[in-house]
Amino acid sequence: MFNKVLIANRGEIALRIIRVCKQFGIKTVAVYSQADRDALHVRFADEAVCIGPPPGKESYLKIPRIIAAAEITNADAIHPGYGFLAENARFAEICTTSGIKFIGPTPEMINTMGDKALAKETMKKAGVPVVPGSDGVVKDLARAIEIAKTIGFPIILKAVAGGGGRGMRIVREESDLENALQTAQHEAEQGFNNPDLYIEKYIEQPRHIEIQVFGDQHGNFVHFGERDCSIQRRHQKLIEEAPSPVVDDELRQKMGEAAIKGCQSVQYDGAGTIEFLVDTDRHFYFMEMNTRIQVEHPVTEEVTGHDLIKLQLRVAAGEKLPRRKIKAEGHAIECRINSEDPYTNFRPSPGKITDFHMPGGFGVRVDTHAYAGYVVPPYYDSLIAKLVVFAQTRDGAINKMASALEEFTVEGIKTTIPFHRQVMKDPRFRSGKFDTGFLDSFQFIPED
Ligand code: ADP
Repeated sequence: MFNKVLIANRGEIALRIIRVCKQFGIKTVAVYSQADRDALHVRFADEAVCIGPPPGKESYLKIPRIIAAAEITNADAIHPGYGFLAENARFAEICTTSGIKFIGPTPEMINTMGDKALAKETMKKAGVPVVPGSDGVVKDLARAIEIAKTIGFPIILKAVAGGGGRGMRIVREESDLENALQTAQHEAEQGFNNPDLYIEKYIEQPRHIEIQVFGDQHGNFVHFGERDCSIQRRHQKLIEEAPSPVVDDELRQKMGEAAIKGCQSVQYDGAGTIEFLVDTDRHFYFMEMNTRIQVEHPVTEEVTGHDLIKLQLRVAAGEKLPRRKIKAEGHAIECRINSEDPYTNFRPSPGKITDFHMPGGFGVRVDTHAYAGYVVPPYYDSLIAKLVVFAQTRDGAINKMASALEEFTVEGIKTTIPFHRQVMKDPRFRSGKFDTGFLDSFQFIPED
């Protein structure tokens, strides 16, 4: 096992990793920006190094500063968390050449799977069903029209380098294609420094269902079942659950096998997530792979009883994956508590938390870095807490979530708590019959 791990991240995930390291007896190094001086990851790590001014580009994304922090503190491994440098192949490579273990897959695997178009090609070759679309990048209108005609409208233009639900545009008619292509290329260039787009069939009323996978350095692969992440706002996840209300044993087995096939084809090593869209006929299509731990990993932990961060450290240290079959039981739900105002279209709401009270009790888990007096900085993503519940049944989990949300108090800033309270009461959510468009027809009623 490692002696000292540097956590190249902030917020709840940095804390989550520090806690696991402590359990292993591993020393920890936090890095932080000037905006995060008072953050809990700084307080709870054994050592902390300031790596620059508040904006991510000048701190958490500055590779040389993070490597220097690892070198001066003698860290032998770096955990990237999610976001920031977690899927940056160059960072993984620099860690390796600096003699520091990157806790994640190799740069080659990140490259193959991080490029969305290349990942689809790889999966297709491995025999995994993929969303119909272009084989690779589409540069010009003539080619775009040709593909759109073959697969049929509506289509979706997606940035090869896109992420976080950004860089996508739905096109329903040929006459809109020229304009959409130009705007999407421009947006992709601005947002991701890469104008390249690919085309997919736009799947109507899909569910977003993803499989948690793991590979080790000895050629073993396992999957931990699915998570349903269909409750989204502008293609960004807000609520996740495991198992999915629409996945039965047969579908789970098929999707699991497809996910493992994909891992085998690149000899994947570490934690990963294979994302699928499932259509109304329950056909599933590979969409993309995330080569890191996901925000929503706790729902899988709750139903399988496996600590996935612990497993990441173990496989990175060269240990083998557990040979036991992964069994899942019960039902887990996660609500993302963001510092956003659900009444004004989820506008970011940074600032000082004046009062903070977390729910608790049997089967209630809160992963958070927030506390009363904490100032949510405006520079980073708006996640301030993950509220996760576990119960034997889906109904039981929804009821537990509703009561936990009742108790959850955050004053001083706006949060998504009132939104989640309403979703827990929503008949469509409770029935389990919804798709990624759930929010389009959701009537948000302000609380008194
Ligand atoms: P990102 O990497 O930005 O999260 P994804 O490719 O994972 O992008 O897609 C995010 C979400 O966008 C999906 O969960 C789904 O709601 C929607 N989406 C993406 N591709 C399609 C498609 N071909 N058809 C319908 N919806 C899609």
